[in-house]
Amino acid sequence: MRGAVLHAPGDVRVEDRDDPKIIEPTDAIIRLSATCICGSDLWSYRGIEEVDGPSPLGHEYAGVVQEVGGQVSRIRPGQFVVGSFFASDNTCELCQAGYQSSCIHREPLGAEGAQAEFLRVPLADGTLVATPDLPPDDLVPSLLAASDVLGTGWFGAVAADVGPRTTVAVVGDGAVGLLGVLAARQLGAERIIAMSRHQPRQQLAVGFGATDIVEERGDDGVARIKELTGGLGAHSVIEAVGTQESMLQAIRSTRPGGHVGYVGVAHGVELPGEELFFSHVHLHGGPAPVRRFLPELIDLIWNRRIDPGKVFDLQLPIDEAAEGYRAMDERRAIKVLLRP
Ligand SMILES: [Zn+2]
Repeated sequence: MRGAVLHAPGDVRVEDRDDPKIIEPTDAIIRLSATCICGSDLWSYRGIEEVDGPSPLGHEYAGVVQEVGGQVSRIRPGQFVVGSFFASDNTCELCQAGYQSSCIHREPLGAEGAQAEFLRVPLADGTLVATPDLPPDDLVPSLLAASDVLGTGWFGAVAADVGPRTTVAVVGDGAVGLLGVLAARQLGAERIIAMSRHQPRQQLAVGFGATDIVEERGDDGVARIKELTGGLGAHSVIEAVGTQESMLQAIRSTRPGGHVGYVGVAHGVELPGEELFFSHVHLHGGPAPVRRFLPELIDLIWNRRIDPGKVFDLQLPIDEAAEGYRAMDERRAIKVLLRP
């Protein structure tokens, strides 16, 4: 099969890889209808995360089940399925509490490399959620978005305790931040402030439900959020970047008693203890337990209540994955969908 492989920072090649096979009786093999490039893939592409020899790329996937192992009972060949970037049994105590991305049996899908034609999914019964039927082609991008960016933005909003009558600020205008806006809207937020200085992203944010745009960043951004919230700060702040600046911007934009939901993968973030102590801010985040939200998100997409697939502003055949990485790295594209 064809699959994208990272050889060194900036060096993505699409090459022949071995077709995945059933290894454990709980595995499934799916044929990908679509896959995509994640903002978190850029950390290794940019050399900020170490690249240790050629590594298959990709952890976002939606497609049709080809084959299942002998112990898989809930998922059947022919079904269209969506899964998340961690395989999970969905039965252990942590899964049952809604933290499938900390499942005691979790396995990272990134190691399998989802930017390819086929993918082995471990713990298929726990990991995969089937759609009611084979989807029409125009729903595939939105269903793929549920695999990570929508699920992650949604968790950011839930972790930030977004609810009716809340004011929400979103730090980060990548796909996760934009879908955090969509999630906040669905969860009933009254006011949603998107922090972005890029016009096409601002437009998308407004389309997803943002009521205000703040272009300033850092201390100036915090000051603008305070200005817009009677000097208090937002009730809920979604942090979708993962840098020192964005994390402090999120914490400082939150009112005492408010909540930060942080879903940007943290790189070099160090929190000042004393400031945190006096801030009275709740912090919750981490790798999103996307599996918790998948049934609800698939239902919203299937019934065309939400259209998260709009975050894909560039679609390429998988053989052109390298161009997709360049486009995201240079911020020419918000999110790139790859068609195997
Ligand atoms: Zn589990």
